Amino acid sequence: MKYLLSKGNLSREEIIFLLNIDDPMELGHLFKRANEVRKFFCGNDVHLRGIIEFSNHCDQRCQYCGLRCPNNELERYRMSNDEIIETAQFIYSSGIKTIVLQSGEDSFYTTDDIEEIIISIKKDLDVAITLSIGEREFFEYDRWKRAGADRYLLKHETANPKLYASYHQNQNLQDRLNHLEYLKSIGFQTGGGNIVGLPGQSIEDIADDILLLKEFNVDMASISPFIPSANTPYGNKPPCDIDLLLKTMAIARLVLKNSHIPSTTALSTLVHDGRERGLQAGANVIMPNFTPQPYKERYIIYENKARADSDPIENVRAITNLINSVGRTVGNSKGHSLKSISNLI
Ligand code: SAM
Repeated sequence: MKYLLSKGNLSREEIIFLLNIDDPMELGHLFKRANEVRKFFCGNDVHLRGIIEFSNHCDQRCQYCGLRCPNNELERYRMSNDEIIETAQFIYSSGIKTIVLQSGEDSFYTTDDIEEIIISIKKDLDVAITLSIGEREFFEYDRWKRAGADRYLLKHETANPKLYASYHQNQNLQDRLNHLEYLKSIGFQTGGGNIVGLPGQSIEDIADDILLLKEFNVDMASISPFIPSANTPYGNKPPCDIDLLLKTMAIARLVLKNSHIPSTTALSTLVHDGRERGLQAGANVIMPNFTPQPYKERYIIYENKARADSDPIENVRAITNLINSVGRTVGNSKGHSLKSISNLI
């Protein structure tokens, strides 16, 4: 096992072997090694990305997600363009230099709307913009890239095509990957990612998720635990095991080396000290939530999520303390990709 941890490249079999570790001492070695690799390739800074969840409308029907369009129990909202821009200004004034614009797949916002929002934010604020709004037309990605968006987060969710088809009624894995490939080809810093612990998923599937992230050489990998969501077909399924999630993050760090890896809100929803544990198992990014009330409490992807964050400024203070408490520093740059500097302005 120690030999594997110092190997440069891990095979599928070796990743599966590491995912199956359950001895606490061996787990400790794995997390320690992931932490060392993170330090070597990414340094000690933790980058903050301020997220605005600007709409909880969604045209899709992902079996696991509380935003799925057949969920009639969810109170829906859309923020106006002006509200989104004002919230971005607030994020910037709190010292954070990346704005993440996230929503369900909501075709209400036109190409022009998103373009206008990007241009307005970039005109006044020295920030990076990440879009996380699902699959759109390729020409729209072109327009938004030209307007100044820097990054696009589009998780592949699972690398198993059969499982992908069973989780997503109107979508297929190959399309998702084609979108990711296109985004990369036009110069977006791309974020991929997967959900760990989904119903029917095997350890082999998770190994394939890690290898897919490597194949795409993602600039960012968002690896989150499955958390059941009421009013979805998977509402009664068990949540992801915390150790399995941390193992996946740690092995992803060994394999991906300098990709940004967030310690997600989902992790702190799963266990109270989840974010700290994520930071010590390879993560180097945290995404504080700036969605204004009353919208924030309605962006219910999974249970208890809204409770995870309090007042945004208080929350950033708490996150800063947490980062310092594990011997790390808050990054003061935009925290661009560490893969290549060619696209960066
Ligand atoms: N609609 C956009 C898209 O398709 O990329 C972004 C919004 S979507 C709500 C953001 C992410 O939430 C998804 O990529 C998925 O990984 C995650 N998610 C949804 N339901 C989840 C659940 N029950 N547990 C964990 N993560 C979940």
